[in-house]
Amino acid sequence: MQTAEVVIIGGGIVGSSIAHHLTAAGCKKVFLLERETAQGKGSTGKSMGGVRAQFATPVNIKMSLYSIRFYASFEERLGHPSGYRPQGYLFCATNEKHLAYLRANHARQVEAGLRNAEIVTADYIRGEFPQLRADDIVGGSFCPTDGFVDPYSAMIGFMTWAVDHGATLWKNSEVISAVRKDSGFVVETTRGSISARIVVNCAGAWAAVIAKMVGIDLPVEPLRRMLVPTQPFDDFPHTAPMIIDMSNGFHFRPEGRGFLLAWNDPAETPGYKTDFDEAFIEKILTRAADRVPVFENVAVNPKRAWAGLYEMTPDHHPVLGETPGVPGFFLANGFSGHGVMHAPATGKILSDLILHGKTELIDATLLNLSRFAEGRMIEETAIL
Ligand SMILES: Cc1cc2nc3c(=O)[nH]c(=O)nc-3n(C[C@H](O)[C@H](O)[C@H](O)COP(=O)(O)OP(=O)(O)OC[C@H]3O[C@@H](n4cnc5c(N)ncnc54)[C@H](O)[C@@H]3O)c2cc1C
Repeated sequence: MQTAEVVIIGGGIVGSSIAHHLTAAGCKKVFLLERETAQGKGSTGKSMGGVRAQFATPVNIKMSLYSIRFYASFEERLGHPSGYRPQGYLFCATNEKHLAYLRANHARQVEAGLRNAEIVTADYIRGEFPQLRADDIVGGSFCPTDGFVDPYSAMIGFMTWAVDHGATLWKNSEVISAVRKDSGFVVETTRGSISARIVVNCAGAWAAVIAKMVGIDLPVEPLRRMLVPTQPFDDFPHTAPMIIDMSNGFHFRPEGRGFLLAWNDPAETPGYKTDFDEAFIEKILTRAADRVPVFENVAVNPKRAWAGLYEMTPDHHPVLGETPGVPGFFLANGFSGHGVMHAPATGKILSDLILHGKTELIDATLLNLSRFAEGRMIEETAIL
């Protein structure tokens, strides 16, 4: 049997960031276990890659501030590109309620240390993007350091750095059981067993299955999300930010020579559904052409569209930290659509909690598992 200090279950961007941060902090024997033959086959490889600090709760804003700065200096730190493109996020409000909501969020963002987000007028939006139907737009908010990363590249960057500095990656190694033994755990995989003092659950949409192995009910549910890339399209600027139509949640951003279209269908129900539903194309194109009339002429190829899983929690915040009643078993789960943008901060927080029992980055008690039983949920409403 192999021995490790820390075993990380799940080799997506979250597990890879934790492996990096632990190794960088001097943790000697970090083992990362991934059941697939390659990394990125979970949600990370399906993500839209959006990163933003324009959130509604201080804890999400703080995690984004750390993460976006990290992504901006990723290549200097890790010698590998994150693909960070600071093209911004532009929220377009279509009624006064939305605008009041953006103003309240903006005040919280400023208080949490975000300096460059601003409330913008409807005329500003019309001037910047005359291609938008703006008759109902009453204003919005924009942050130029929000933008996009390449999730796959960032994940590989984290993991390559960790392996180069002593961590071990086992692919093709599905975790079958995790059992408490002495003062640690024995983790059994399809490739062999490993004993470790610390285990970190980074299994994304499958996190509840892993938590069950140590007798914990983890409120993380899979929820399908679908993305539709367009064919090359030049009638909208490729320098555009992520643009969000707050009337219905439709959003889009430039991708390659075309655009990536997203809309979260409220009719979607939880479950491990990863097939792309072709009926979605008409639904999303209707919304796209409604807000961006030139999209009436955009071509899409259904074969290039895809579906993946969000990992949802009841209050749309992640569950981070040591599991109550199971010392040494840590959770980094339930990112509710924000796991790529919050992966760097999560790596730092988990590394701090594992190695020092505390972190300065956030008040970690806000995100612990106990909050559900204790009725301390902190609802995030700025979800896409
Ligand atoms: C369509 C879509 C768009 C998104 N857009 C954004 C966005 O714009 N911005 C953003 O920040 N986030 C976005 N997300 C969410 C983001 O992709 C996820 O939150 C993030 O990738 C979660 O990373 P992870 O490492 O926790 O999970 P994953 O990437 O799913 O990794 C978990 C890994 O665990 C492995 N695993 C599971 N069970 C076992 C086992 N028993 N043994 C061994 N390994 C196991 C899986 O194979 C997988 O590789 C999007 C998600 C989707 C689906």
